[in-house]
Amino acid sequence: MTVDAIKSVAVVGAGTMGQGIAQVCAAAGYKVLLYDIQPDLISNALERIRKNLVTLVEKGKITAAQKDSVTALITPVSDFRQLQVELVIEAVIEKLEVKQKIFAELEKINDQSCILTTNTSSIPITQIAASLKYPQRFAGLHFFNPAPAMKLVEIVKGTATTDETVQLLFQLAQKLSKQAVLAQDSPGFIVNRVARHYYVEALKLLEENVADFKTIDALLRATGFKMGPFELMDLIGVDVNFSVTTSMFNAFHHDPKFRPSRIQQQKVDAGHHGRKTGKGFYDYE
Ligand code: NAD
Repeated sequence: MTVDAIKSVAVVGAGTMGQGIAQVCAAAGYKVLLYDIQPDLISNALERIRKNLVTLVEKGKITAAQKDSVTALITPVSDFRQLQVELVIEAVIEKLEVKQKIFAELEKINDQSCILTTNTSSIPITQIAASLKYPQRFAGLHFFNPAPAMKLVEIVKGTATTDETVQLLFQLAQKLSKQAVLAQDSPGFIVNRVARHYYVEALKLLEENVADFKTIDALLRATGFKMGPFELMDLIGVDVNFSVTTSMFNAFHHDPKFRPSRIQQQKVDAGHHGRKTGKGFYDYE
């Protein structure tokens, strides 16, 4: 497979990241098939993408004609068997078994040359690949949130990923106007491993009543961070952030520096998942 042979891309999962990734791929001219296990979420995703594009037109960043062509390139798909493509980018919930099951199904409907990638934030690529028949064409392709705006992607090489697959993904990242870095396989890769402490320590401060969350956010913003840890968790999804910390805590053999917070667990249990549910640490309603 060469990068020029990629014409159509399946984005599996139409949540926060799937929406953004679908928009990025369509903006680069790829035909995108957008799938989610909950079909109503696909229509929500298309509506969000449309709104994002309208904002870009209003800001003069793209033309109305470009908006229309990007929109036209994204097809909602409710039947998984339609996902026959040259490239898959998986962006479903951060659960190893769910991701492995999806890739096993994708291998059944696509031939051996189809490039399979995951947007996982933390699960080792080698672990996801363990159940694949052809893991050499499998890698991490880790976009950041919001995917259309964030330039960086981490390309993560599992133990079976070939150099050809990595090279192809670097070429793809260029076509998507992203800046790619190579990370060897390790839980949380590069950015999330470092960033984890931004959330974990801030949550510890809150648990210890050192300061309230708005104060912590304001202080970190004042030191130059674009967003405080709590507003960032709300943007990412408190549930997603919690799953990532939990997955890293397990992967690092319960190293206490990655221990998930009870306060965050409570937010998840209460359904306060951040902006996407209208309430997280802050209220968005
Ligand atoms: P999300 O909760 O917003 O969306 C996940 C979507 O996956 C949901 O729409 C859900 O219906 C769908 N889904 C669940 N099971 C499925 C299945 N079996 N088949 C198809 N769809 C299924 O999550 P998100 O924030 O978009 O995160 C997705 C992935 O991207 C995760 O692996 C996460 O770690 C990673 N990630 C998230 C961020 C972030 O800031 N949110 C950033 C980088 C990477």
